[in-house]
Amino acid sequence: MIKKFDYKKFIGKKFGKWKILNYKGFVKSSNPKFKSHRIYYFKCICNCGNIRLVPLNNLTSGRSKGCQSCAAKKHGLAGTYLYGIWSNLMRKNKERNIQVSKQWFVIKKFINDVNKHLGPRPSKKHKFVLKDYSKGFIINNVKWGFGSKKFV
Ligand SMILES: [Zn+2]
Repeated sequence: MIKKFDYKKFIGKKFGKWKILNYKGFVKSSNPKFKSHRIYYFKCICNCGNIRLVPLNNLTSGRSKGCQSCAAKKHGLAGTYLYGIWSNLMRKNKERNIQVSKQWFVIKKFINDVNKHLGPRPSKKHKFVLKDYSKGFIINNVKWGFGSKKFV
C-alpha cells in the first residue's frame, strides 16, 4: 500500500520565487532503478508571473528557484545565442524526452561546458549539432557544425 500523498500541505508554499498554486498529478519515474518512485508535479507561479509545472523534488531540493527566464535574467544571459540553445534543449528534454546531460539543467554549467570544450561559435552559420544522432546532448556528442538536421 502506497501512503497517500498529502499534496494539500504544499499549496500556497513558497520556494524561492515560486509559489505553489495547485497539485497537478504524478508520473512514475522513467528510471528503472526507481520504478515505484513517483514524481509529483505542482503548478507554480513565479514572481514574474510565469506559470509552470515544477516537480516537487526540484522545489524542495532548491534546484528550481524560479522560472528559466528569471534565471537567465539574473545571469544576464537572456537573448544570447547560447541561452537560446539552452532553452531549446530544456524544452526538447521535457516535451520529447530527448536526453540532455543532467548537469546542463543549470545554465551556467551548460555555458561553461560549451566554452571549455567547444570554444566560441566559429561563425553565424555554425549550429549546435549532435555528432551521433542516436545519442543525446552530452558534452562528448556535440559540436559546432552544419548538421543536415537542424537540431537546435
Ligand atoms: Zn520568473
